[in-house]
Amino acid sequence: MSVSSLNIKVTPTSQSRISELDQNNLVFGKQYADHMLACYYENGEWNTPEIIPFGDLSLSPATSFMHYGQAIFEGIKAYRHPDGSIAVFRPEDNWKRMNVSAARLDMPEIPAEIFLDGIKELIKLDAAWVPEGENTSLYIRPFMLGMDEFIGVRSSLSYAFYIITSPAGAYYSKPVRIYVQDQYVRAVPGGIGFTKAAGNYGASMLPTRTVKEMGYDQVLWTDAFEHKYVQEIGTMNVFFIVDGVALTPNLDEGTILAGVTRDSIITLLKENGIEVQERPISIDELVEAQKSGKLQEAFGSGTAASMSFISDLTYQGETLYLPEINTWSISPKIKKQLDDIRYGRTPDTHGWIFRI
Ligand SMILES: *Cc1c(COP(=O)(O)O)cnc(C)c1O
Repeated sequence: MSVSSLNIKVTPTSQSRISELDQNNLVFGKQYADHMLACYYENGEWNTPEIIPFGDLSLSPATSFMHYGQAIFEGIKAYRHPDGSIAVFRPEDNWKRMNVSAARLDMPEIPAEIFLDGIKELIKLDAAWVPEGENTSLYIRPFMLGMDEFIGVRSSLSYAFYIITSPAGAYYSKPVRIYVQDQYVRAVPGGIGFTKAAGNYGASMLPTRTVKEMGYDQVLWTDAFEHKYVQEIGTMNVFFIVDGVALTPNLDEGTILAGVTRDSIITLLKENGIEVQERPISIDELVEAQKSGKLQEAFGSGTAASMSFISDLTYQGETLYLPEINTWSISPKIKKQLDDIRYGRTPDTHGWIFRI
């Protein structure tokens, strides 16, 4: 055991599994790097974080998060740059967002030293797990759980924070087919739609599987009251290019996750001289734009795919087709700019890169 300069207790594994990693055959979310970070909150404070070999947890079946859902997470990626160095994309923003989620779920805030220094130390130790192939990455999954061994309904008093990492292969995403959801609801004002809380995903499983069985890839959620205004797609924010202007739903209703990718894309669009409007976007507006030939491009944005282009949207039995993607002029350019920054192929002029 050693104590790092950042006051993290490190217990390295005695048996690395790195030789089992096939860099040419990475399956997302199935293989985990050698180590994980664990930190426990008790009596009103966070203890010293520890980096330990990745392994099973042993928990009481009465652990409160299993019953009442005080469970939040983040998703971040580390990229291998051409010089061999490793960079994480905007983790400070994920740290801030995790604390927004924590506050809403009545969980303790996680200090930056534990979240950010934890990522740094963990990835330094598991650097060999950051893949080198084109468009590959190491996915970083921080999460926090209510840990009281108590099945009464109240906020937990003890918590656990963990970080695990998983090598991710080249994310090839074919254009996605979207089903505009007008029955089930993901988020309402006053709810938890703006948090990365586990329960949001539990609620989306049935509607998502249902539309997948109908031949679509993802659900586009609409507002709970009128099913008229679009919110977001699965685990992605959504953008539309209408008559040369980029439209994306505004965040202030509290029904949309404030994506780090969304924010990065808004910045890049503006730098490219594209007007961006963050405002309510109704389905009717999109239908009309499509009919008059002004709906030019549409995509989802998130850490996993960076940008996923949309081929068509189905709303109440009618399918709106986007123009062929090889005619698009804005989104592919922005995607390339974003990916070039993430992979260190262009200089980072925004302070988005966090070096390991
Ligand atoms: C994670 C997530 C996003 C995308 O956020 P990024 O920070 O860009 O990865 C969008 N919507 C939902 C519901 C999400 O869970």
